Amino acid sequence: MAVDLKRAGWYLLLGDFIVGMGLGLKYFFKRKATLNYPHEKGHLSPRFRGEHALRRYPNGEERCIACKLCEAICPAQAITIDAEPRADGSRRTTRYDIDMTKCIYCGFCQEACPVDAIVEGPNFEFSTETREELFYTKEKLLENGDRWEAEIARNLEMDAPYR
Ligand code: SF4
Ligand code: SF4
Repeated sequence: MAVDLKRAGWYLLLGDFIVGMGLGLKYFFKRKATLNYPHEKGHLSPRFRGEHALRRYPNGEERCIACKLCEAICPAQAITIDAEPRADGSRRTTRYDIDMTKCIYCGFCQEACPVDAIVEGPNFEFSTETREELFYTKEKLLENGDRWEAEIARNLEMDAPYR
């Protein structure tokens, strides 16, 4: 009787081994569920809400007309705008700051903007080493816009039928 129990134990072990090997082989040949980040990156939706950017028109002129709708709608009160009229009568910002430590990435600023000036772009790799680096100025936001304009314009175009 004792010998039969021992044999049954071995059979159980062998069964587990075969099942384990089968699972190992199955996942060895399956498509990987993980990515080798940062060398590989996953798909991003055109609606992805990443780092903010201020856009320009193709002639280099700032899109923003200083209407302050984004500042008013921001639930985190992260946006601060100062503005004054130019000599040609147009209204432009003299200061456009976003405190990224307050931002909750709701996208309301982008939704409120009548000229698609402030957007949340596709960049998600903007971690910093200091808190101060997260206080974005107009220069920084315009730089972001210049850097990501091609992707931003493509994403807005893809999203346009649903807006
Ligand atoms: S994404 Fe939302 S919280 Fe962030 S700046 Fe825009 S409106 Fe404010
Ligand atoms: S970014 Fe858009 S919503 Fe904000 S002040 Fe400029 S034009 Fe108005």
